[in-house]
Formats: sequence, structure tokens, C-alpha cells
Amino acid sequence: MDAARTKVLIIEDERQIRRFVRSALEDEGYEVIEADTAAAALKLTAGEHPALLILDLGLPDRDGIGVIPDVRAWSDVPILVLSARAQEEEKVKALDAGADDYLTKPFGVGELLARTHALLRRRHAAQGNRDPLVAFGTVRVDLARRAVERDGAPVHLTPIEYRLLTALIANANRVLTHRRLLADVWGAGYAESTHYLRIYVARLREKLEPDPARPQHIVTETGVGYRFKL
Ligand code: CA
Repeated sequence: MDAARTKVLIIEDERQIRRFVRSALEDEGYEVIEADTAAAALKLTAGEHPALLILDLGLPDRDGIGVIPDVRAWSDVPILVLSARAQEEEKVKALDAGADDYLTKPFGVGELLARTHALLRRRHAAQGNRDPLVAFGTVRVDLARRAVERDGAPVHLTPIEYRLLTALIANANRVLTHRRLLADVWGAGYAESTHYLRIYVARLREKLEPDPARPQHIVTETGVGYRFKL
């Protein structure tokens, strides 16, 4: 990926945060454009085709969450949400509405760049055919054969466990809310059944994580959902 041609749109009314994000991303060779209202954001997204949106949830003209379905109606550009600590519920709503990840203010350059790189890598990978072979730790998953191996030995997964694993793999390196995972794996009627998720995530960790008590791949995002790290 050529960062020099990668355009990022920062949507934030606080000039200080815009300046911070701009300087951090420009140092990495990204091109940064700015919007300070939701209206300007939609216009720039349509006109400039940025590769990533960094969206603050507190905007002067409109709730930042409202921007997400408007963009999702015609674009799958990755959306990284900025939220204040007191906005825990809004953050989950933003992810349910189709945002890909979040940063809680105040955040550092390291965190900002890690999230930015991960989302742009994801987008880059999604543009080609995805490889049916996925590897993490000592686990190999062959999505074409529906086969899972660990340390070279076959691992038996139940149909639900396998579906949960493939939902996590398909959304690697982004945050999946409880609601979205439940809808993906069990169906829309199960959106509130978070205890199912806890049980099946624990089973998958038992079977696939080197230390299930300290998971490295199927990571809990407290109060939000899970992140699958590839
Ligand atoms: Ca703001």
C-alpha cells in the first residue's frame, strides 16, 4: 500500500484534535483532509473518496452516529470513531451502525497509527480475492475445506463454533459488537443473547488459544464485543 496516495478524512469540530491527527498521519505520508461538521463530511466523502474516515461522535450540526448509515448507504469505507469516555453507549451504537473501530479520547499517536494501519490493511485485503487459508499462532484454517488444524492436528469444531470462527476471521482486526456477532452467527432474533457468545467464545479459546485465560487472538473489548487479531 502506498501511504503517499492514501487520503484520510478527519471529521471533528475541535481544531486541536484535527491538528493532532493531521500531523501524526502526515508524518506517515498520508494525505489528510478535514471536515468540522457532518454536512461537510458527507460532501467530502462523496467528492474526495477518502480511504478512511476518522469520525468524532460529538459534532455541532448533527450526532456523529447519524453520519454512519448515510455513508454506509453507498460506501464501505472504513470508519474509525472517536469517542469521549462518557460516550460508552454511543460508541457501541456507532459500531452497531457500521463503524469499524474506535479510539477513546485522549489517545496517543501510537494507538492512532495502529488502528489506521489495521483498517487500511483490512480494506486493501478486501479488494482482492481473500485467501481461503488463514493462519494465526499454530492454528491453520482452510475455509474452502472447512478444516481447522492446531499444531498440525485436526481440531473438531461444532457447526456453531465454526460459524463463530469464520465470522471473526471475516472481520479480523476490527471490533465486532455483541449484537453484530450474535446476528451473524445465530440470527437477528438472538441480538440480546450475549450469554451464548460468552459460552462459545470460551469454547473456541479452549480449542484454539495457547493460553485461553490470556487470549491473544479472540480478544474481549469490555462492554463492547470482541476483536479478532490476525
Ligand atoms: Ca467534537
